[in-house]
Amino acid sequence: MPPVTQPGRDKYDIVWIGGGSGGVAGSRRAASYGAKVALIEATEKLGGTCVNVGCVPKKIMWHAADIAEKTRHAANYKFKGTGVGSPEFDWASFKPQRDAYIRRLNGIYDNNVAKEGVELHQGNAVVTSATTVQVKRPDGSSYTLTTDKIVVATGGRPTIPSDGQIPGASLGINSDGFFDLAEQPKRVAVVGAGYIAVELAGVLHTLGSEVHMFIRGETVLRTFDPSLQEVLTKWMEHTGINFHKGSNIQKVEGVKGQALTLHTAEGEKVEVDCLLWAIGRHANTEGLGLEKLGVELDKKGNVVVNEYQETKIPGVYALGDVSGKALLTPVAVAAGRRLSNRLYGGEQYKTDHLDYTNIPTVVFSHPTIGTVGLTEPEAREKYGPENIKIYKSNFRALYFSMIDEDHKEPSMYKLIVTGPEEKVVGIHIIGLGSDEVMQGFGVAVKMGATKKDLDDTVAIHPTSAEELVTLR
Ligand code: FAD
Ligand code: NDP
Repeated sequence: MPPVTQPGRDKYDIVWIGGGSGGVAGSRRAASYGAKVALIEATEKLGGTCVNVGCVPKKIMWHAADIAEKTRHAANYKFKGTGVGSPEFDWASFKPQRDAYIRRLNGIYDNNVAKEGVELHQGNAVVTSATTVQVKRPDGSSYTLTTDKIVVATGGRPTIPSDGQIPGASLGINSDGFFDLAEQPKRVAVVGAGYIAVELAGVLHTLGSEVHMFIRGETVLRTFDPSLQEVLTKWMEHTGINFHKGSNIQKVEGVKGQALTLHTAEGEKVEVDCLLWAIGRHANTEGLGLEKLGVELDKKGNVVVNEYQETKIPGVYALGDVSGKALLTPVAVAAGRRLSNRLYGGEQYKTDHLDYTNIPTVVFSHPTIGTVGLTEPEAREKYGPENIKIYKSNFRALYFSMIDEDHKEPSMYKLIVTGPEEKVVGIHIIGLGSDEVMQGFGVAVKMGATKKDLDDTVAIHPTSAEELVTLR
């Protein structure tokens, strides 16, 4: 169903701004309870960051990289034939196929929203009061929706330095631009050390690009448990990613899409074909009218909300990336659905809200990382060093028994427990399959599992996951 071009009702129960992970999930849930719901999306594509320029195309690229890796390993498993050992990835023909899948997903989102009875509007939303939202349509026209409640779920966008801060910075691309690349760049510089830098550098390197990572510190993923930082950084270096540690880009010269020369403040000069900024994201709040309404924004521009996703203005809520906490799709989805449960789901949901503790998360690095709960420094700080115990195992997954020494990926599993009952307060794992292993252990931690609960669970053999129930 195409978006409507004028209000279908005099008044809505709730207007959702932003058709991404949070807005789509939350608006559908509200409509499922019979609420009169409008959803406003600025672009012609539903699904937001995750579907269009985030999780989904990223994971597809990760799968492509994984196949490249496995194809290289295939020679060790004594497979023969063209391509085994030296896969060639045809980026140029893969991209349109990936894009076509995303377009199909956009269509599925359109249908799901329509099926649930959510009225879809296309345009830029501006909150003009606590009960009115203006829709500025792509053709320049506009109209106003009147509503009891408003939810801001406008997500965020990549941060990139200005040319004033770093001359030539705009010669680079960001993660959105990565998904626009029609050809695989031969030499890439990735600036940043977070999720996106690690994931996209890993994909590019594994698919055969020469990758340079410019990081300010000594390791990637500096907010993660130190053991994960150490194992992953070392392995990325071992596989041939060129690390420029303690580096700050000072100037970029060249022509976009052609050779670029990067100069660092530390005196290095590196030539690449593509510069990718992956230094974080910031909330989409500009032009929304929130400050005028009195909605509080923090220093970074995120909308300040309480545990019920309420802003300071009654009836105006915010959730997902725009509220700046745990920028993950399932978080936006859960916050959106729970808000709708609480508002329209009746007595059983009257206090429903998302608990932001112990959110499991995965980094699609090579190898993947899974993590939930406190890091070791956080646990020491919270419980005191004398009250925590660490169980840790470094091992190789059985899969690598047949693989050349040089290509045997490391695995490291770490459990952080506290108190005499040894309650599990953190799990940090890296190694083959960690992305799939983590979800179940996330449940265990959420349920308050102790080390004994893990020990009492019979192992599944032979797997990597069994290490977590056999740690001594
Ligand atoms: P979004 O999905 O960003 O949706 C916001 C929507 O609001 C957009 O469609 C936007 O067009 C619209 N909008 C903005 N302003 C207006 C306006 N004024 N009027 C109307 N509409 C407006 N998370 C994971 O959990 N797993 C992953 O593997 C993962 N990978 C990622 C990879 C990358 C490269 C990136 C960038 C992100 C990734 N994320 C991942 C994060 C995830 O994509 C976000 O946390 C999630 O999309 C946030 O959902 P949201 O609803 O808050 O915002
Ligand atoms: P992150 O916040 O994860 O990481 C950005 C990193 O860039 C920082 O940790 C910092 O590392 C570095 N950095 C910050 N400013 C600068 C600067 N000026 N110059 C150089 N380096 C800088 O942001 P991302 O953009 O990687 O991702 C945004 C969010 O999206 C993530 O936090 C995550 O929530 C979500 N996401 C989730 C994924 C998943 O679930 N698998 C995948 C991708 C994104 P340092 O301090 O060490 O320099």
